[in-house]
Amino acid sequence: MDPARQMCKHFRAMQTALIDSFNRRIEYLRISVTDRCELRCSYCIPKGFTGFEEPEHWLTFDEIERVVGAFTQLGVMRVRLTGGEPLSRGKLPDLAGRLVRIPGLRDLSLSTNGTRLRKLALPLRRAGVTRLNVSLDSLNPERFAEITGGGRLEQVLDGLMAAKEAGFDPVKINMVAMKGVNDGEIVDMVDFCIRYDFTLRLIETMPMGATGREATEHYLDLQEVKRTLQSRYELIPTVMTGGGPARYVRVGGTNLRIGFITPISQHFCATCNRVRLTVDGTIYTCLGQENNLELRPLLRAGVTDEGLKEAICLAISLKPERHEFTTRPDKIVRFMSVTGG
Ligand code: SAM
Repeated sequence: MDPARQMCKHFRAMQTALIDSFNRRIEYLRISVTDRCELRCSYCIPKGFTGFEEPEHWLTFDEIERVVGAFTQLGVMRVRLTGGEPLSRGKLPDLAGRLVRIPGLRDLSLSTNGTRLRKLALPLRRAGVTRLNVSLDSLNPERFAEITGGGRLEQVLDGLMAAKEAGFDPVKINMVAMKGVNDGEIVDMVDFCIRYDFTLRLIETMPMGATGREATEHYLDLQEVKRTLQSRYELIPTVMTGGGPARYVRVGGTNLRIGFITPISQHFCATCNRVRLTVDGTIYTCLGQENNLELRPLLRAGVTDEGLKEAICLAISLKPERHEFTTRPDKIVRFMSVTGG
């Protein structure tokens, strides 16, 4: 028996944590519940793209629940629903309600573009979603429309307010910081987040797919941004709950926390604790590598619960040490909404 399979059998027998070949404990699963999104952010889904996954390939809610159950039995405690735009998948609060009842799951969070939050924030909160991230790259309506391929800023701002009214706390804003596009707005965004009590997370552009690669023309090193903000605000290192990679500071004299997500200028692969499940049931073990394992054929061929856990262990054993975004930026053909950001 090959060593990876033997290791998987061992994990399964021990019902223990998922530890990869680089001694990292995997306790966080991000699930792309759809690869579709009505927005066309310049760095994400290409304009005119039509090659979305066929509905018959989408994991059903039963299948997602089963996979999450297997992951939690192997020590995964946090799940984030993402996409594509997760709120475009019908009956998402029903799925959330089913997942939060799975023993061992401690935290169910969600990433959204915010356009449907006015209608769905409260049902999601009631279903048990604990934390919410909303993408917002600009506070200028024209620029927002340009970046998102026609998105309406007022809809997202209204969605953000609906999230607060529904009791999400904190609500985190994800801003992809781009030189020559929205870098002039970072201070405005800081002030906006102070005023409305949001948490801000700044993200470096990643070369995911052709769109992501083109967008790296606007790559902005967040270490520079941090220095600029430091000249204006007192930035005090702090921590925030959540399984993600952001490094946080608090802005002195305020409640605002700013997270820096720096996959390029200061990558965090050594502490990576997550894997991703695509809408068609493929586990991707790294955003910036192809290493993957398809669960859907197993699920639809009647795999046993033990077999499913064994397959998950095998996937984890394939997790590479790190991405190669800087050394091989042309490597990843999947754009972000396929894998689930
Ligand atoms: N639709 C949801 C949303 O807007 O948050 C979830 C999916 S979206 C793919 C998740 C996050 O990935 C968003 O914050 C988005 O800005 C970010 N993203 C997409 N492509 C990216 C890229 N090439 N580089 C950096 N961040 C990217």
